[in-house]
Amino acid sequence: MIIDLHNHSYYSDGVLSPSAVVRLAKESGCGVFALTDHDTTDGLAEAQQEANNQQIKLIHGVEVSAMWSNMTVHIVGLNIDKDNPVLQAGLKQHQDFRKLRAEKMARGLSGAGVVGALEKTKALAKTDMLTRTHFAQMLVQEGVCKDIKSVFRRFLTGKKPGGVGGKWAEFDEVIAWIHAAGGVAVLAHPLRYRMTNTKVQRMLSHLSNAGLDGVEVVTAHSTNEEIALISQWADEVGLLYSCGSDYHGWHNQRVSIGVLKDLPNANRALWSEW
Ligand code: AMP
Ligand code: MN
Ligand code: MN
Ligand code: MN
Repeated sequence: MIIDLHNHSYYSDGVLSPSAVVRLAKESGCGVFALTDHDTTDGLAEAQQEANNQQIKLIHGVEVSAMWSNMTVHIVGLNIDKDNPVLQAGLKQHQDFRKLRAEKMARGLSGAGVVGALEKTKALAKTDMLTRTHFAQMLVQEGVCKDIKSVFRRFLTGKKPGGVGGKWAEFDEVIAWIHAAGGVAVLAHPLRYRMTNTKVQRMLSHLSNAGLDGVEVVTAHSTNEEIALISQWADEVGLLYSCGSDYHGWHNQRVSIGVLKDLPNANRALWSEW
């Protein structure tokens, strides 16, 4: 059974509609599939309708931005009750922060000579959820940068013109929102945080003590060595294993839904408890 528990639609920074993502998951042979947009559950209703049509099991998910030790990390909530008021109040806080942050980013970019950044970025987003990816797409479209990667490097991080410090909720709050909604909390892509391995291990231990349930042991381009490493770290602190491609649908991302290596130990799979 193919299981993919981390995917995006255009309700955050993915390209496809929720229905199109679900259809693609079905075509890719997924039996279980989670939609996990950044800081919003707004795509889940449409995804659920299509999942019923396609007879595929949809896990309701969300990828929540969070602070750990002054750094932004991503915590995926799975099997959530999307209508839970505690979760929705938390996500609303993040959605409001995103609006404020988008205005600040646009001001920073105008200082660097990019006029009308907010309007241009809004024009290419399909919903009112603005991510840095949308700003990056705008800057590529405007010919300011040649590709998304260079936009992040030159404009959207640290002290660069469009770099705005993330002030998301702390990790323990985010875990509590997910638990309030009956979900399980999973640390996304543990090797993508520009931390040393020692620091990642420290984070896993800390998050586990705060109630984290699992960690993504397998992501789209995981090597066997990485899978062995993360599963060992997970075992040491009692975290369950999850897997997800982090599919966004960008043509140059070279990620396909459901194309994932097997978990090293199926008994530790998050879903064995479902
Ligand atoms: P945000 O949550 O709005 O800060 O945007 C974060 C999103 O931007 C991530 O989920 C990625 O999809 C994307 N992203 C972050 N860093 C990079 C990068 N260096 N290159 C391409 N995409 C990136
Ligand atoms: Mn993203
Ligand atoms: Mn992420
Ligand atoms: Mn993601």
